[in-house]
Amino acid sequence: MQMRVMAIGPHPDDLELNCAGTLALCKQRGDDVIMCVSCNGSQGHYRIRSPHLQCIRRREARASAAVIGAECILIDLPDSGVYPSMEQRAIYTEVIRQAKPDILLLPAPNDYMSDHSHTATLGDEASFWCSVPLYETGYNSACPPPAVYIWPPMGGFGVEPTEYVDITDVWEIKKQMLLCHQSQYRWLLEHDGIDYVEFMAKTARFRGLQCGVKYAECFRPLDKWPRLRAERLLP
Ligand SMILES: [Zn+2]
Repeated sequence: MQMRVMAIGPHPDDLELNCAGTLALCKQRGDDVIMCVSCNGSQGHYRIRSPHLQCIRRREARASAAVIGAECILIDLPDSGVYPSMEQRAIYTEVIRQAKPDILLLPAPNDYMSDHSHTATLGDEASFWCSVPLYETGYNSACPPPAVYIWPPMGGFGVEPTEYVDITDVWEIKKQMLLCHQSQYRWLLEHDGIDYVEFMAKTARFRGLQCGVKYAECFRPLDKWPRLRAERLLP
């Protein structure tokens, strides 16, 4: 069955680090894929400043989505600006209503910084409120709650995955998508000494070790009614 698969990442590049392989496989099996990003990356550099930086980050996010032919939705909050408020809950509910996903991928609520943990909270809440017709947003067409899966926090802490996706065959695509974010790749390398392709490779190899393949991504279903499904939906 062809599905609509949406992933909401906190910053441009978080989707690539955590679920780009899964999204590539979804696309290959015929699903529609929607890559949505909370923040515009406005504080993600040590030298380049906004608004120039925001333009670069938006362009990089769109280029990455284009690699697999995914739709790209940019919510455009400033970095450090994601906060679980009534207003922002309505924004997330609206983008979910527009996308009408069967599957929604989100960060974990205990992820390492506020844009991440608040994206998790807002995505979780919106995955329910999208179904309530009288909860009004600008796009007032309610949709059923999607099945929700969360990826573990950066560094692998605190969320024990139960569903693994073998991404070995799409590893090069995932890498290509991540490298679309050249501003981040170079920043982290020059400023923090982190090669985040290597970081991503180590993480995917470790998850692969856990499930007996070369490279894997992993998730845990959100165990909240009615976003849990009995059947396997991930590739
Ligand atoms: Zn981030």
